[in-house]
Amino acid sequence: MAGMARIASHRLEQAKAALLAELRLEVRDRRLLEAMSRVPRERFVPPEVQPYAYDNRPLPIGYGQTISQPLIVAVMTEALGLRGSEKVLEIGTGSGYQAAIVAELAAEVVTVERVAPLAERASLVLADLGYRNVHVHAVGDELGWPEEAPYDAILVTAGAPGVPRELVDQLAGGGRMVVPVGGRDLQDLLRVTRRATGISVERLGPCRFVPLVGRGAWPDGAEPSS
Ligand code: SAH
Repeated sequence: MAGMARIASHRLEQAKAALLAELRLEVRDRRLLEAMSRVPRERFVPPEVQPYAYDNRPLPIGYGQTISQPLIVAVMTEALGLRGSEKVLEIGTGSGYQAAIVAELAAEVVTVERVAPLAERASLVLADLGYRNVHVHAVGDELGWPEEAPYDAILVTAGAPGVPRELVDQLAGGGRMVVPVGGRDLQDLLRVTRRATGISVERLGPCRFVPLVGRGAWPDGAEPSS
């Protein structure tokens, strides 16, 4: 068994190196690439998909939810332009992987999740890996975590029909929000910057996320069934 585990972990290391080589073609931020090589993605996925932890694709994490594709995690994080001193809010903790990446690059991360068991699992993994600057909250219908606003950066890891107004309100002046906006099946990744006079919006490219649920979501946004 120990031998098998060794082979498996050797394979994971090889897959990780290949993934990082792929990411280096797309991502310029050195600190971000280093963070992605430090964080063990296999710890954030269920055992049955662990062998695929370093495939450049989303993976199922239960409850009808997914851990995002590594490349999209990189693109979203890079778009926030983190330097180390920021307080960051994430909507949609899911596995906790994206929160860990941000925790490596910013001062503090507040992350909220509607599916309580996912929030609990993510919280345990993050604590076990020693992240003390991530705070996971299970939430209900409210959007974000106004208690600790304003945030220098906000990351929305679920698709929305429009730029959620309640989240713009939780952004500091000059703060950036990265959010997938569009249809249920395909969205545009937007970077929204809060200005004194309102917001400015840049389009970063097409993406596909599971839908946001609750306020700021599609009106018929039912809970996923599993
Ligand atoms: N960032 C995650 C990927 C999350 S998938 C990771 O790194 O693994 C999107 C998550 O958003 C799902 O877990 C879903 O339950 C959650 N979600 C959807 N709507 C939400 C809302 N209004 N508030 C908080 N979480 C929400």
